[in-house]
Amino acid sequence: MKPPICEICDKRMDEFDDCGLVYFKKRPSDLEWDKKAEQPGFVGHPPYAAWFCKEHYEEAKKFEHLTISEALQKIKEKT
Ligand SMILES: [Zn+2]
Repeated sequence: MKPPICEICDKRMDEFDDCGLVYFKKRPSDLEWDKKAEQPGFVGHPPYAAWFCKEHYEEAKKFEHLTISEALQKIKEKT
């Protein structure tokens, strides 16, 4: 897992209460990643998941049905 740094504003969260991890819709490449992640000893951060600070978490949640690249674009347009 990546350290909790907001994907939108780059704020680093020290308290996990201040942030949330959002899992977006998986792209074909993400399904490939999932297969690799099932192998023993694999450590990594899911490419379709991202951290958001308290301010951006609600917004990110609204777009979790989109892929991560689409969602980030939408959120950035709004902020
Ligand atoms: Zn943020």
